[in-house]
Amino acid sequence: MPHYTAPLRDMQFVLFDLLQAETELAALPRHAGLDRDTIEAVLEEGAKFASQVIQPLNQVGDREGCTYHGDGVVTAPPGFKEAYRQYVDNGWPSVSCDPDWGGQGLPTLVNNRLYEMWNSANQAWLMYAGLSHSAYECLMAFGTEEQKQVYLTRIVSGEWTGTMCLTEPHCGTDLGLLKTRAEANDDGSFALTGTKIFISAGEHDLAENILHLVLARLPGAPAGTKGISLFLVPKFLPDADGNVGGRNAIKAGSIEHKMGIHGNATCVMNLDGATGWLIGEANKGLAAMFVMMNSARLGVGMQSLGQAEVAYQNAAAYAKDRLQGRAATGPASPDKAADSILVHPDVRRMLLTARACNEGGRALATWTALLLDREHDHPDPAVREEASELMALLTPVVKAFLTDNGYETATLCQQVLGGHGYISEWGMDQYVRDARINMIYEGTNGIQALDLLGRKVLMDGGAKFARFAALVQAFLDENAGRPELAEFTAPLAKLLADTVALTQEIGVKAKADPNEVGAAAVPYLRITGHLCFAWLWARMAALAIGKDDHFHAAKVATARFYFAWLLPEVEQRFREARAGAPSLMAMPADAF
Ligand SMILES: Cc1cc2nc3c(=O)[nH]c(=O)nc-3n(C[C@H](O)[C@H](O)[C@H](O)COP(=O)(O)OP(=O)(O)OC[C@H]3O[C@@H](n4cnc5c(N)ncnc54)[C@H](O)[C@@H]3O)c2cc1C
Repeated sequence: MPHYTAPLRDMQFVLFDLLQAETELAALPRHAGLDRDTIEAVLEEGAKFASQVIQPLNQVGDREGCTYHGDGVVTAPPGFKEAYRQYVDNGWPSVSCDPDWGGQGLPTLVNNRLYEMWNSANQAWLMYAGLSHSAYECLMAFGTEEQKQVYLTRIVSGEWTGTMCLTEPHCGTDLGLLKTRAEANDDGSFALTGTKIFISAGEHDLAENILHLVLARLPGAPAGTKGISLFLVPKFLPDADGNVGGRNAIKAGSIEHKMGIHGNATCVMNLDGATGWLIGEANKGLAAMFVMMNSARLGVGMQSLGQAEVAYQNAAAYAKDRLQGRAATGPASPDKAADSILVHPDVRRMLLTARACNEGGRALATWTALLLDREHDHPDPAVREEASELMALLTPVVKAFLTDNGYETATLCQQVLGGHGYISEWGMDQYVRDARINMIYEGTNGIQALDLLGRKVLMDGGAKFARFAALVQAFLDENAGRPELAEFTAPLAKLLADTVALTQEIGVKAKADPNEVGAAAVPYLRITGHLCFAWLWARMAALAIGKDDHFHAAKVATARFYFAWLLPEVEQRFREARAGAPSLMAMPADAF
């Protein structure tokens, strides 16, 4: 059976050494009193919840899955409901929620670290809670006072969970095609009719009520995305006191049978005149839903980081014990029948790839969580604006780069176990299957890449990118006098200059052929992801180099591996981005 231990030591390094979280939080009035001991205590408790409560349910959830009982009734796998009760009783849903609405007011930074652990332990289970937190973000931003009183408080307490209902059978990426209709009732509510598919946590028995945030069209709304509105549609309509009342006409028609995350119910949701209330303004629903989607996109990055970390831990433990063959340099354990497979360079390549991606991903994700805290709470509007622009730029990178890496590394970790990695008992196949969805939902990774290059980089003439580039350049300038860092800073400086040049080239080419953006987008996102990683790995190496204790020596060794083995991927990606559209678009459609 797989095991999981939260990587608290590395989290401490990222939070307090790399990101100076205590100083950073002291600058945010809301969090100024929060000290390191408190953060560490919360993370330690979260780590226990991960390894003692939800991790033991991960394989059960995969094996047993969810059950559809007919007439809209769905139950989660054995143990999921009880674990959710414990989660609520421990106050975990409210950790980073606003105290005005019953939350504990801790920074996003803390929640982000907890989510990595809980995803390592059980992604399918956490999705019930994670989507609720995204619904919280959306209601905080766009809910009316009354909606907040009735719904937000219950989401914060965890009594009720949330979903996001966008996808329809004919409408996935292209939300402009959606058909679900909303017609005004006499009392200010709306009647919604339509079918949503693939709705995660759409129906279950974990909580007493479910709030569905549903995209739909009002009569006479403009065609396309400009005519979409967002509605709050509860499973049970609240009574006059806000408690669970009559059953609403939104029901699960079935659940999907799928490759992974079997413990999470992926539902077809039928709305048959279901009662709902508008969230935000009519026809501005997509903007409101984007608050939820951006939160969920960062959450999806955490899902893959979590999967890749637990896969790494189990592969590394296996590699230490598994004896096969001898070291090329002569027996490492002559007293044993064979050496551990850790003597083989290729096994080390696989493990170090996972380790470099996970520790780099942890640094990137934690930094973006800190940006969110700055964006919400910093007293200086200029700092808030910078954080907001960096978040906009990096959200698609966290989503796509971390999930592509997560799948790749989960597969490599499976490979470390050889044939045993393919056998269910070891649990590695589940990590690969569970991690696969993260590249698809919340906007496929291809769409994330288009968002990055088309909307975030080119649309503002590279202004957001320039803010990020300035941070990288500042690090390079500060460390110009440290020759021992040249092995990291020289390739980082080259990558920065090459990326700036590539961005300008694509901008020029796109004016002549709009397909150039779509063609270059995916390699461009990989390059940007590596720019983030190279910057963060160089910073981590700068902190660790010269310290010879076990932790810091391993950090420097992993940084060296990253620069030698993973960063060179960008050379191929630059070639792809420059190859551009012609060779992709030349093939006639009827030849496929
Ligand atoms: C397990 C699971 C859970 C899910 N949970 C939810 C949920 O909770 N709520 C919800 O609303 N949805 C959910 N989804 C739906 C998910 O978000 C969509 O499947 C996803 O956004 C892609 O839409 P699609 O499947 O229709 O693919 P399509 O949109 O048909 O895309 C097919 C392919 O074409 C590409 N493509 C499409 N348009 C473009 C374009 N303009 N430019 C370039 N490439 C393009 C895509 O990248 C993809 O590779 C879930 C899906 C699954 C499988």
